[in-house]
Amino acid sequence: MIERTLVLVKPDGVQRSLVGKVVTRFEDAGLKMVGMKMVWMDREFAMKHYDEGILVPILGEKSMKDFEELGIKTDKEKHVLGKEVYEDLIRFSTEGPVVAMVIEGVHAVQVVRKIVGPTSPHRAQPGTIRGDFSPISMGYATKRGFGGRNLVHASGDLKDAQKEVPLWFKPEELHSYKTVHEAHTL
Ligand code: ADP
Ligand code: MG
Repeated sequence: MIERTLVLVKPDGVQRSLVGKVVTRFEDAGLKMVGMKMVWMDREFAMKHYDEGILVPILGEKSMKDFEELGIKTDKEKHVLGKEVYEDLIRFSTEGPVVAMVIEGVHAVQVVRKIVGPTSPHRAQPGTIRGDFSPISMGYATKRGFGGRNLVHASGDLKDAQKEVPLWFKPEELHSYKTVHEAHTL
């Protein structure tokens, strides 16, 4: 049940000087940081992190729904829109450095997602990172063509976490140590 999950403070979070506040959310919850570094992704690496084949159809589907909700008309095919949103995401992800961390804890994948909040900040509750620090919606971001600026990435499920942690961190970059929380939580 003790899991490791990948979190990125995305370029918007770094540029808005929110790294400390984001890290504090996880530390306050008693989760353990076992790896951390600043990385400026290139396109090739960003495309390893965000798999084009998997994401383009998902982003196409989601963006069509966003446009319907917002009353935005489009003649674009779902796949074409998905590809555009994917390209916006890659451009945004590589526009500046990110802070990458691996977080460990009981049900860490799920708990971290809960702390981060849902993908579109306008749906994220206050108290979540996306809900507290970002006022935009993904549909708005797509309309503006400026990429899904939602401050943080967090692995979606255990399978994703098990792929993403080794993509970002070598085994020797991850550390085992005891936190004072462990007497109470583990
Ligand atoms: P999450 O980051 O919450 O796991 P996804 O894995 O579905 O979300 O999508 C990856 C990233 O793509 C999101 O964090 C966001 O930056 C961007 N994105 C997701 N959905 C949309 C959308 N509907 N419109 C624009 N960008 C989106
Ligand atoms: Mg995801």
